[in-house]
Amino acid sequence: MKLTITGYSTALFSTWFFVDELALLFDAGDGVISGLQQKSGKIKNAFITHADRDHLAGLLAFNQLNARPGAPNIHYPKDCGSFRALEAFSKKFDPQVSGTIWTPIQEYDKISLRNDVYVQAFPNEHVQIGHPDTKSLSYKVFETKRKLKPEFRELAGHEIKKIIEEHGRDYTTDLIKTNVLSYSGDSPVNYDLWDQSDILIHEATFLGGPEDDHIETHGNQHSKLEDVIRMVSEIKVNQLVLSHFSSRYSHQQIDTRIRRLCDQYQISIPVFSILPGQLSHNILKGKPVND
Ligand SMILES: [Zn+2]
Repeated sequence: MKLTITGYSTALFSTWFFVDELALLFDAGDGVISGLQQKSGKIKNAFITHADRDHLAGLLAFNQLNARPGAPNIHYPKDCGSFRALEAFSKKFDPQVSGTIWTPIQEYDKISLRNDVYVQAFPNEHVQIGHPDTKSLSYKVFETKRKLKPEFRELAGHEIKKIIEEHGRDYTTDLIKTNVLSYSGDSPVNYDLWDQSDILIHEATFLGGPEDDHIETHGNQHSKLEDVIRMVSEIKVNQLVLSHFSSRYSHQQIDTRIRRLCDQYQISIPVFSILPGQLSHNILKGKPVND
């Protein structure tokens, strides 16, 4: 599936990604509206990963400008109180904005975007709370296709038609799902979860070198660049977008480290970097760092 992805991501300040073809927004950090302008009006579904302010601070303006009957639908981890507070405030602050749907979701929920595409939520380890509340989610987008079961493939068209009339279409076909896009949100790496992603947008807050000594992570779990690259070298991913870098690093430091690690781990897929402070249009059409 061809996807046009525009995004901004700098740890601590703001993160958001817009997927044009799917009318979809992942996270809604500050600046999402100024970055997308009129295009933000296309968004039907927003999926927020957690309540850290760098992932939700743009919701108020996004909602005020784009609410219409039944849209947008803002999905958030069900046990984050911030979203209920924001919903209540938004309804008071902008009483004319009443079309927005605020939807609490939890791990493994599936949300349909259209007939053949859905988003599924998955638990991650970002927020360490020690009980089973849903405070932080990762998301995967799946495309589904119906494929004729092997036992019917030799039959002529009219024979298949007859079987479908008798037993229904589901009887003759398997539902094949493809993971076309994955979004980590803030999270440590997870080999099983991201294996077989066509496109993976993954955070890499820290470069993991000596410059990281004395870093305070406030107890929340993030990824180090090398852990992400090592993971991608051991699983099947076709395109990697690295995001959520700390602004303590220069652009050159980040890209140099990515190139070195891609060499070290023999990464041959395209790897794109979303550099701190930089709005990236049509990310997958850009030049891969490891080209
Ligand atoms: Zn963050």
